[in-house]
Amino acid sequence: MERRYVNIKLEKATREEILNLQFRRLKELLERAYHTNSFYRDLYRKHNVTPDDINSLGDFRRKIPYITKKDLLKDQDQFPPYGSRLGIPKNEVALSSLTSGTSGIGQEVHPASSFDVEASSTGFIWQCRWAGLDPFDRLFIMNLIGLPLGGLWILRGAEKYLLQHFQVGPDDSLKRLKLMKRFSPHCFIAVPAYLNRLSFLAEENGYDSKRDFPDLKVILTATEAYTLSWLHKMEAFWGTRIFEWYGSTQAAGSHMFSCENGVYDHNDHRCILHNLEHRVLVEVLDRNTGDPVRSGEEGEIYVTVLFRQAFPSIRFKTEDRAKFMDYNECDCGRPFAGIEAGTIARYDDMIKMKAVNVWPEAVDAIIFSISDIEEYNGKVWIDEKGREQVSVMVEFKTKCSLSLVERTALLEKISGEIRDNIGVSMLLKEVAYGSLPHFEYKPRRWTDDRHKSI
Ligand SMILES: [Zn+2]
Repeated sequence: MERRYVNIKLEKATREEILNLQFRRLKELLERAYHTNSFYRDLYRKHNVTPDDINSLGDFRRKIPYITKKDLLKDQDQFPPYGSRLGIPKNEVALSSLTSGTSGIGQEVHPASSFDVEASSTGFIWQCRWAGLDPFDRLFIMNLIGLPLGGLWILRGAEKYLLQHFQVGPDDSLKRLKLMKRFSPHCFIAVPAYLNRLSFLAEENGYDSKRDFPDLKVILTATEAYTLSWLHKMEAFWGTRIFEWYGSTQAAGSHMFSCENGVYDHNDHRCILHNLEHRVLVEVLDRNTGDPVRSGEEGEIYVTVLFRQAFPSIRFKTEDRAKFMDYNECDCGRPFAGIEAGTIARYDDMIKMKAVNVWPEAVDAIIFSISDIEEYNGKVWIDEKGREQVSVMVEFKTKCSLSLVERTALLEKISGEIRDNIGVSMLLKEVAYGSLPHFEYKPRRWTDDRHKSI
């Protein structure tokens, strides 16, 4: 297979050379954060550690405390708008972004310097190159460009790689398909649930991939797990290969990508998403012991961005669960370790519904504000037309004195409140008392059945 390099020197370096470079950059980052950033200086003083104490990755893991989303939210509440973690003068902030839908918990502010913006934009180039795209290929960007960084760094990366790009984020799915037929893209980007929906619509409306999208050669996906049988079905339908990436706002963009080998090998085993080790340090750690997991084992991802100036993310605990894969699990020869494609999941209870991150507590707060309600149970699933649906079963208390008509009206009102406050339409239905599980310990009210139907 022809290998396609972005930076041949790095991609052909030995593992040792890459790790040395990574550690050198890590030391510089720690020095910079300690001397220019009161958030980190205070935190490290509290933990009795200075950059001089860090002489290996092991030291880093054992001595440098991790940070969480809650730490960042608390800091920005205390020192609005950027928090004490702003590592550059306020008037040098070139871009402010907010993390995407974090309904009920809060959105992190991520300031960036012009250097950060530039550096973040170059991440996507690696995916374009490795997946087989060439400059001037046509790319359909279906993400919306807004305060979350997702859409913006794809756009900037596409511009850097000189792709001809089409911003179809504001258009509905049928319009996107029409535009695809008209402009024949080489690539489009869709998360698995949306790819499934788009495939359904394309089929229902008589599109034939070979005839109508003859130039399509790559589909890029990210963020959700999928089964390989579903993936094969999608590749067959669209007549092309699917590649995947991983990234986050806390990691300043995408930094793990499928190489030319794609997301599965000839034995139908899942492949690796290679981490750009010189840009982002990824730790995959055992949830119980905090030790790095071995290749093939599951752990939690912690990210440290080695290049960021305005807000250096150092050991950010992502709550993402992934299977670590060592660099030599892939035959491409790159010295970059990473995670397994297609199996990323969350440790916390947050569920992505209709492209919005929903925290069950936010739904609880609305539903349980009604004293007549005893319990509820929610389910996210894909209907026969490939659309994502959210159903919520509700039990009223036995002593509830409302009539059937009043209860129905109340459920409609709650549904409206959920839509207005959380941004997701949910269908609420009453069920008989006693039909739902009641919880004594940590409630598990939500199930995700999306992968059953796709
Ligand atoms: Zn590879």
